[in-house]
Order: sequence, then C-alpha cells, then structure tokens
Amino acid sequence: MTSIRTLKTDKIQATVKRVTSGRIPTEHGDFQLLYYTNSIDNKEHLAFCLGDVAGEDILTRVHSECFTGDVMGSRRCDCGEQLQRSMALVAAKGQGVIVYLRQEGRGIGLMAKLDAYNLQDQGYDTVDANLMLGHEADEREYSLAACILEDLGVASVQLMTNNPLKISALQASGIKVSSRVSLEAPVNADNKAYLLAKATRMDHMLDMSQNERNIKATTTANVSARGKNESEPAN
Ligand SMILES: [Zn+2]
Repeated sequence: MTSIRTLKTDKIQATVKRVTSGRIPTEHGDFQLLYYTNSIDNKEHLAFCLGDVAGEDILTRVHSECFTGDVMGSRRCDCGEQLQRSMALVAAKGQGVIVYLRQEGRGIGLMAKLDAYNLQDQGYDTVDANLMLGHEADEREYSLAACILEDLGVASVQLMTNNPLKISALQASGIKVSSRVSLEAPVNADNKAYLLAKATRMDHMLDMSQNERNIKATTTANVSARGKNESEPAN
C-alpha cells in the first residue's frame, strides 16, 4: 500500500511516498498513523488520521515536532497542549488529520533549541535567541505537509493554528485553507514570555489580554493555595 505524490514549487520539488500505516489507540480515540518517506530529507514525517479524511473542509493540524513539549510536557512552549487539543478536536468531530513534521525547534533542531533556551534564560526572546545562534527566527518548511495532505485526498482544510505564516505557506504550496480554528493554550509563568514574543514578533494570533487575565487568575490561585498552607499570623 504505497502511494507517491509530487509537488513542484519555484523553490523545491518535493515527493512523498506513503510506506505503511498502523492503528494507534489513544485516550482521544483510535487514530491511524501513516508513515511517509520523501525526496527532501531523511526524516520520518507522519500523518495521524481519524475517520475518512478525503474531501473538503477537513479539520487539520500541521504540527512541527517539539520533543520537549510534545513528549516531555515542557511548560516553556504551547506545543504539547496544541497537539493534545487538536487530537481532541479531531476526535470530537470524528474526522481529521494531524500532519506531524520532524522540524524540531522551528526547524533549528533540538541541540540549537537548547542553546536558544539558555539565551532566553538570560533575557533574550525566542526570535533574538535564534538570530544570535546564526539561525533564522523560523526555518520551517511546509511543502512536504502539502504533499502529504494531497496524498490523503484532503481538498481543503479547516486549519488548527494561530500562525498566519503557516496559512500562507500552505496556500503557496497549493493547499486551500477554507477556515482557521484557534488553538490557544493557557499561559503560565514559564511560557508567558515565549507566547508574548510569538504574538508581538511573529504575528501569531494570540489573545494576550485574555492570557494576561488567565495568568493573573493562576497567580492569584497559587497565592491562595500557598496562603492556606501557611500558619496564621499571630495577632
Ligand atoms: Zn514547543
């Protein structure tokens, strides 16, 4: 059961080949994991599908790998929450696809991402940290995602994203984006600066005023919880 799709753009000619697939039961439901090889790199790009995904207006997430967020549950970013939320939305609809691209750390790789985290701990934001390391702010590429979606018969997508660049990049690769579904994760003290940089420096569509309210509520709750554990001050 293999299939091959080729996509030609000005910059790149990408080809993907669906090699195999398997059933993956999750807390959200039974997905099929489709394994692709491709003509651009040696990475294992994947599609995580539920239901029949051929057709129009397919609920779709194009997710870039984040080992720290997706696997380890890091609170430095919103990746893990966005992945889980998109799986839940697909399961609730009974149909959809998550294309999982192996471009860790907005394309700079895990090693450079850790170096960038250290710079962020010194006060630089995520964009400046990447630039200081000789990388671009965002090195991700979406032509392989477009090939995979085409291979799946996805004619147009309801794209789960906050990232306008991802929408325009997919459209430039021939994918019709019929609508956007917001995927905002709760703010915490560890991801606040990162989300703010995404909103202000990379134009991500995040409601930071709402998030500010969330973090204030969280902070208040933490203070209340701490207060309960402390002994009452003597009068
Ligand atoms: Zn992440």
